[in-house]
Amino acid sequence: MAFIPYGRQDISPADIKAVTEALCSDYLTQGPAISAFEEAVSSYCGVNHAIAVNSATSALHIACMAVGLGKEDIAWTTPNSFVASANCILYCGAQVDFVDILADGINMCPDALAAKLKEAKAANKLPKVVIPVHMSGHSAQMDRIAELADEYGFHIIEDASHAIGSSFKGKKVGCCQYSDITVFSFHPVKIITSAEGGMATTNNPDLAEKMARLRSHGITRDTALMTEESHGAWYYQQLDLGLNYRMTDLHASLGLSQMTRLDEFVMLRHDLAKRYDELINHKAIIKPEQASDTYSSWHLYILQIDHDMIALDKKALFKYFHDASIGVNLHYIPIHLQPYYENLGFKKGDFPNAEQYYRKAISIPLFAQLTLSEQDKVIDVLMTAIEE
Ligand SMILES: *Cc1c(COP(=O)(O)O)cnc(C)c1O
Repeated sequence: MAFIPYGRQDISPADIKAVTEALCSDYLTQGPAISAFEEAVSSYCGVNHAIAVNSATSALHIACMAVGLGKEDIAWTTPNSFVASANCILYCGAQVDFVDILADGINMCPDALAAKLKEAKAANKLPKVVIPVHMSGHSAQMDRIAELADEYGFHIIEDASHAIGSSFKGKKVGCCQYSDITVFSFHPVKIITSAEGGMATTNNPDLAEKMARLRSHGITRDTALMTEESHGAWYYQQLDLGLNYRMTDLHASLGLSQMTRLDEFVMLRHDLAKRYDELINHKAIIKPEQASDTYSSWHLYILQIDHDMIALDKKALFKYFHDASIGVNLHYIPIHLQPYYENLGFKKGDFPNAEQYYRKAISIPLFAQLTLSEQDKVIDVLMTAIEE
């Protein structure tokens, strides 16, 4: 049996046809596929605006810029995420801090957030932005975080890189009921892919317009926004210091084609996750759970293993899987323990729940095309490793 990765894309003949057609069209970039992809995502999520960019990292950056995050400001995210969730804050010159995850969970803890906000208010150091992450597709407790946003007046940007196809309390993640902006990633290991790509959704027309401008150098051709009368048909104005974060039509046509299978991908992931739930049973293992008011995209299937209860330590367990041609992974090394962040003053012990979780977590293969016999092999290898 070939190597089984922890995650991978599912590319159909229709996807290949869509990209080939875009390649043969008049537009390789800034053509009709971009707005078609944006429209597909916004109508899927039930949100007014969607802005496609070349990665979720770019989307997080322009989202932070759009809500006005700057040098004098502070923003918070969770330490249990990919570094991009925090880097976007630093790109804006703002100060970054973290809110620990739930003691028995994977997402930002609303009680820890409430406590930290109370302290921050007393110290006059409230954050301008909070970035919750929907870890592995399981939505954070957005209603509680939004209540705190009302009380303390911060913006919410949801990092939903894992969570297209997920729901919270019956509504799609990305609808922005509880946030200013939601960001998706279309990296190949995520739920749907555009090879590289990301998107920001919002119901706020001003934020939408601002992000659309920021993805393309801060330039506008809309005469209504110009500071003086247009000089002519060639004229444009740069209003902000933007970037080139545009998605190409090749990428957008792949993303658009993949959107037609999003629900199918998520259903397949649910079936596989359910099968793992049924077939993995051991006292040293805690299995991931979908909270009752959420529907997960099941981007990742993360076990928490108590290594004190088994013979193999984490390195040995990873080696055991790799020797059996199974690509396990770990999501995530706490961001504050990265050397770059330690140089900013963070240290071990700052966010104990995320650190404790890091000692236990392991992501085993989960993707739409994982076959049952591949899944059986993963379970087999896991169980033998645990019994070693
Ligand atoms: C993948 C990921 C990102 C970055 O996505 P890119 O599209 O690769 O830039 C950001 N945040 C989280 C939580 C991610 O998993």
